[in-house]
Amino acid sequence: MRRRFRKFYTKHSHVRRQLPASISLPVDARYLVAYVCMVLFFLLIIPFVSIQLFPRLIEDVPETSPGITLPETVSVYITSEEKTKTIPFENYITGVVASEMPDSFELEALKAQAVASRTYALGRIKSGTQLCDTVHCQVYRDHDIPAKVRRAVKATAGQVLTYNSKLASQALYFSSSAGDTENAEDVFANPYPYLVSVSSNYEPGATHKKEKKTMTLKEFRHTIKEAFPDTDFGKIKTSNIKISGRTKGGRVSEVQVGDAVLSGGDLRTAFGLYSTRFVITTRGSKVTITSAGSGHGVGMSQYGANGLAKQGRSYKQILKHYYKGVDVTVGSK
Ligand SMILES: [Zn+2]
Repeated sequence: MRRRFRKFYTKHSHVRRQLPASISLPVDARYLVAYVCMVLFFLLIIPFVSIQLFPRLIEDVPETSPGITLPETVSVYITSEEKTKTIPFENYITGVVASEMPDSFELEALKAQAVASRTYALGRIKSGTQLCDTVHCQVYRDHDIPAKVRRAVKATAGQVLTYNSKLASQALYFSSSAGDTENAEDVFANPYPYLVSVSSNYEPGATHKKEKKTMTLKEFRHTIKEAFPDTDFGKIKTSNIKISGRTKGGRVSEVQVGDAVLSGGDLRTAFGLYSTRFVITTRGSKVTITSAGSGHGVGMSQYGANGLAKQGRSYKQILKHYYKGVDVTVGSK
């Protein structure tokens, strides 16, 4: 028995001798661990600290468009004072964004609005239009500017929309779409490659979702004849008031009224409708026009922009959704 044990011990003695050595790592392995730690440090810690210190590193900073020059100041006609004022360009944009979009909207939506408004304003200036402070151009005010609006304009300072390296000067926008947006040529005269029909099914809290206007047939006749005094309507009856055409975005392009055919826009103007996305229903001698959404439907839906921002999209993603094929670039000074 003892001999057998000794034999076993002699045979496996290397196991006992090697045990302490297996607890501490060989020198080569220690170098390996140190090396791995160092690599991890460079891969994880340094980028993390850098992003914290310089957030612009991860932001895709727009390229400069050498062909687009930003003015230092702009001349704006102030309606209430009946005179033009010289205003620093970025201050003007701040006053426009404050007037055109509620500051309760998401920051990214306000940034998208700032870029769209800056682009549109620059387009008006380039075409030789005297800027004013009304809806004719863009609504502007110089007081009660929310801090969030200032932040949105500052974060996008000098940024404009370009299409094929040229200013996307018709950067139109409107309040809410209640469905797809429109091709520019279906609402206005000219087509623009970046103003094409896109979806806008994310407009939480949008106003004017369902606006009803009910009137008697007599009132309908009176209003339409007053709006279009030179048009021969013949006898307008409830049976000959019909929507006869819709656009790609689903808004009314043509309406039959008596013997005449009007555009959806004509009816919108005559009855002061919020949009041309409407239906006409008749009951007895009553005519009801029910519209959805607010505005012309071309370009960026502001409520849609806010909806996209709520989903976590950036202002660039919002702009690229509503203006097909555009780039966000920085104008030069
Ligand atoms: Zn104007």
